[in-house]
Parts: sequence; C-alpha cells; structure tokens
Amino acid sequence: MNHPKPKLVISACLNGEFVRYNGGTVEDPFVKKLLNYCQPISVCPEVSIGLGVPRAKVLIYWKDGHPRLFQPSTQRDLTEEMERFSEEFLSSLPEVDGFLLKAKSPSCGVSNSTLSYKDPEGKVFSHRTKGLFARKVLEKFEDLPVEDEKRLRNEHIRRHFLVRLFSSARLREFMETAQRISQLMDFHKRNKYLLMLHSQVKLKEMGRLVATSKNLQETLKEYAKLFRLALKRAPSKGQWVNTFTHIFGYFSSRLNQKEKEHFFNLLEDFRKDLIKENVILELLKNWSFRFEEEYLQSQTLFEPYPKELEKDAQRD
Ligand code: SF4
Repeated sequence: MNHPKPKLVISACLNGEFVRYNGGTVEDPFVKKLLNYCQPISVCPEVSIGLGVPRAKVLIYWKDGHPRLFQPSTQRDLTEEMERFSEEFLSSLPEVDGFLLKAKSPSCGVSNSTLSYKDPEGKVFSHRTKGLFARKVLEKFEDLPVEDEKRLRNEHIRRHFLVRLFSSARLREFMETAQRISQLMDFHKRNKYLLMLHSQVKLKEMGRLVATSKNLQETLKEYAKLFRLALKRAPSKGQWVNTFTHIFGYFSSRLNQKEKEHFFNLLEDFRKDLIKENVILELLKNWSFRFEEEYLQSQTLFEPYPKELEKDAQRD
C-alpha cells in the first residue's frame, strides 16, 4: 500500500537540532525512524522568542489561575512573548497532519507532567502542567493528533497516533485533488472499516453526508471534520470485535466449520488479551485474497501506516 508523507510539526530538539537549554538534543530511536516517513516542520519556541543556546532554564508558575512562563535567573516573565510567537507560528503553518512535541518541557510538554525547578536558594517550584506553546497547539488543533515522545512508548498510544497521523495525511492529499463526489465515495469506501472501528455513529453520519451531497466543496469540508473527529478516540476491544465480525460476514458462508471455529476462538483469545488484533487482521486479509474480495483488500484498516513503523510498535 502507498502511504502519504504526513506533515508533522516537531520540537526541533526531537529532530536532531542542538537547541536544548544545555546545548543538547534528544535521541529517540522511534522518533528518528518515524521522521523518515514524514515531512517534518521543526520548531523551537524558546529559541524563537530569542532565548539563546545554551540558556538559563525557564519554568511555569500559576498566577490568578493562569500559567505563566518565567526565567528565574533573569527574573523575566516570558508569557506574552511565548503566547505571541505561538499564535503567529501556528497561524502561519500550511495544512499539517499532527504534532510531536518534547515531553516535560515548560514550552512543548503536551501531557500534564510534573515540571520542577530548584532555584539557586534551593526553593523548589513544582507543578503538574502542560507547556505554554503546547497549550496553544491543543487549543488550535483539537482534531489533530498531538503527542510527546514519552507517551509514544506506550504501544496503544503510539498505534493510535500513527493511525491518526497517516489518515490525516491521506485525507489532506485526497482533498487537494478531489474534483467529483464519486471520488469522495471511493475514499469513503476505502476507509469504511477503519471508520467503523473508531466510530460507527460517525461512519453512518459521513455515509449520509456523502449520499446527499449537493455542493462538493461544502461536503468535503464537513467530511474532513467528521473524518478527523471519528478517529479521535482509540477503539475499545468491543469495537475491534464488532469490526472483525462485520468483515467475517463476507466469507462466513464460504468457510468450513473448522475455519469458522478457529476465527471465533481467535476472537476469544483477543478478548482475553492472549493475542493482538494484527493476528485476526492477517487472517481476514488472507481470506480477502482467497475469495478475491477486492473491496476488502483496498481497506486502509489492514495497513493504516507503514509496516516498518509497526515493527517498532512491537518493541515493548
Ligand atoms: S523542548 Fe521545545 S523549547 Fe525546549 S529545546 Fe526542545 S523544541 Fe526547544
């Protein structure tokens, strides 16, 4: 399967640039590999607001219920500069597919990690919070995947991020060339089981939207919004089983009793966490070749992102 190259906004220090406060960079084997399959757009918010390399640390503190960015060694409050830069930078971006930001940074951290700092007098500042730049990203791009490199070490979070990132890129590339409603119907068909896996409600809503379209541009805009929303939630085990069972329906009348039993035993093993979803996906894909179900063979569900990234997805 051909995969698009997602436009990924990435913290510059994760992209091999020596921009950290201590002049260092961040080595992460998975991120390095992922970048071979993406079009990275690097950004270092702290360097961009004029803090040099190396530089004294910055931290976040809370005032009147709002986070503020502060550099204790110079006593500078950098909040306005960071907010202004974030606004300008994010507004100037081309259409992008996702963000990968450095964990535990007062600027880039996307999860509520504990950020601590000890000042020269030994006073400790400690807050559970997100970085200031990351907050703006999450506010402005709520439908896109936004993660940090540490969270991607979790297999489920990583797979979900990859599905959303490459699906967003596929959607973007499709939107750039779509000229007829029949093309949107084809796109929707190829993504049917991936969408079913993540949200049956949205799948139906999108099906209705495509079937009743009157204006292509308006439909595309609405479709893109629903598509990204549909993939926002990671699928539960029940959703996987439901999707497997739907696909199984294509072959069930042509399988012998032993093959059917084998399928239902695998579902049970999957429910009990004895096997992963890719075991059942491979079996279904195999049957799609055997019974020449071309419609199923073209489903993005079978390979939503490059296999080479799946190899690393199994490292933990
Ligand atoms: S975490 Fe963000 S602000 Fe800090 S060095 Fe990396 S890119 Fe720059």
